Amino acid sequence: MDPLCDRDVPILVTGAGGFIGGHLVRRLRQDGHRTIRAVDCKPLDEWFQRDLAADNRVLDLRDPTACRTACDGMQVVFQLAADMGGMGFIETHKAACMLSVLINTHMLLAARAASVQRYFYASSACVYAADKQDRAAVTALRESDAYPAMPEDGYGWEKLFSERMCRHFREDFGLATRIGRFHNVYGPHGTWRGGREKAPAGLCRKVLEAVHDRTGEIEIWGDGGQTRSFLYIDDCLEGMLRLTCSDVVEPLNIGSDELVTIDGLGDVVEAIAGTRLRRRYRLDAPRGVMGRNSDNTLIRQRLGWSPGIALRTGMEPTFRWIEQQFVAARQRTVLQPAVTARPRPSSPAASRTP
Ligand code: NAD
Repeated sequence: MDPLCDRDVPILVTGAGGFIGGHLVRRLRQDGHRTIRAVDCKPLDEWFQRDLAADNRVLDLRDPTACRTACDGMQVVFQLAADMGGMGFIETHKAACMLSVLINTHMLLAARAASVQRYFYASSACVYAADKQDRAAVTALRESDAYPAMPEDGYGWEKLFSERMCRHFREDFGLATRIGRFHNVYGPHGTWRGGREKAPAGLCRKVLEAVHDRTGEIEIWGDGGQTRSFLYIDDCLEGMLRLTCSDVVEPLNIGSDELVTIDGLGDVVEAIAGTRLRRRYRLDAPRGVMGRNSDNTLIRQRLGWSPGIALRTGMEPTFRWIEQQFVAARQRTVLQPAVTARPRPSSPAASRTP
């Protein structure tokens, strides 16, 4: 039975202060769901989006007691909490990424103890074997390509292990788990600076910096020829909800199959910004696998649906939202020195003032 057809079913979204979790809470609310608990370890004022009608809680889900509190009384769980980021983060924080296994282990145990009806786990395309992604003209990844296992070091191994735990909790304990493998999700209300951002948001920021600072140049990680597909957030939510409501127990790709080079993504961003910039290629920077695309045969077969929002369509609102954040952040830094430059009479700076 579809656990989400009842609009009063209690739903837990973890990682709700993050990018996908914030959008999921909003979508569930739009769909008419009345009982939503939203959990994240970040302070509330740092959440990307916050639904004031939800039961918003700040909990560190590495802790088993916090997981029991989060799951108490819940019937549907969307487990999105993870310590993660783009390539720049996951290639340099492998231990931190692997420690998300604490979240996934304790959340599964708590969901089982709370007799949760349906448990969605957010896995990743990083579970796929590296030797299937070693060229730009890549064959799209089928779900079966995850084995024999050779995932992305750190982050990918943790995701694959946690997928496996979901499977065995279902087989051995009867917890109805569903697993979506997200491929490079993008959209507004996500990380766009600070080191955890992914390529679409990072490129939007770099283009904005180049235009505002009149450098005329952006930096590209790698040679620009790496290929990827990027999934717009609305398609991600649709896939996640359809899979959660389905009887599909094996992992499914939730990804776009519109393959583009990183240079091609840069072209899209420049076209939206109405500019053309020089490109400086940094071959020593983290760039991930050479090529990655999502094979959507299985999702079409099993759910009768697959993502369809074009990159150009999704990048428009993404760029506009990042532009707003960028302009607001620049205005804050312009205003700030005016306040702090006024030295207090007793400060050392004041005593040096002639
Ligand atoms: P995000 O970083 O924006 O959100 C994750 C949230 O989890 C953050 O707000 C973070 O504070 C929270 N979190 C981290 N540790 C926690 C803890 N100990 N307790 C409670 N909350 C904690 O990332 P996102 O893009 O929204 O990703 C959501 C999920 O989807 C993650 O599991 C991620 O691995 C997966 N995923 C995302 C992508 C993508 O492209 N965005 C791709 C593949 C998989």
